[in-house]
Amino acid sequence: MLNEEFDQEHPEPVAASTCCDMTASLDGHLLDVDVRLMEIHSRYGPEHLVSRSIANATPCVTSAVRADQAAAEQRRGLVGRHADLIASDDMTTFSGCYTCDQEAQFDTLPPRERIAFDDHWRVAHAIGTALPGWLVLVPRRHVTTVAHLSDAEASTLGLWQVRLSRALREATGCVKTYVVQFAELEGFNHVHFHVVPRMRDLPEDLRGPRVFGLMGRTGADGVQADQMDEMAVTLGRLL
Ligand SMILES: [Zn+2]
Repeated sequence: MLNEEFDQEHPEPVAASTCCDMTASLDGHLLDVDVRLMEIHSRYGPEHLVSRSIANATPCVTSAVRADQAAAEQRRGLVGRHADLIASDDMTTFSGCYTCDQEAQFDTLPPRERIAFDDHWRVAHAIGTALPGWLVLVPRRHVTTVAHLSDAEASTLGLWQVRLSRALREATGCVKTYVVQFAELEGFNHVHFHVVPRMRDLPEDLRGPRVFGLMGRTGADGVQADQMDEMAVTLGRLL
């Protein structure tokens, strides 16, 4: 009877609503689907019915999210350019990429966008975070997967991760750092390693992958530009 009253489901709106649900944190901030899934598992624990049902549904959920994100990207007319880009190692910047847009203005970047750099990497304060000292380490050319980094880029990657962790410990008093790489959000698929100061008093429900609950904060909710610049100068001295 219900089948007679309602049209068959169309895959696009189902994927879109799954994507909305599975890429938002409990308080409405944008999250990667893998982080969202991890958050559900860690909230309910491995034996809970919700975790077991989510585990079964994971392939459907992730494929719906990827399908919706691909459709959104196609609507923006970026698919062709992305394909060219992946095929070409020569391309150093990519318009429509936040990180490359910043790199294009390298000489005039504010301290928060150019905390430190070498020939291959640049360190910036993360944008839209509520946590002072949340850093991102980005390659200076457009790379969308760690596998496409060159040996030269790889050779200083570990050094930067450790040096930034030491400097953050000095500057913020954090007990350790989280080092994480996803590069999944639209416009932010340029490889970026998050280096996150884990403060001693970080609430239990924001530890591990749930720390991404402190991202997606804009306006008064996020770290202000002048605070980021101040942190950048402090870290610059320590590096
Ligand atoms: Zn880029």
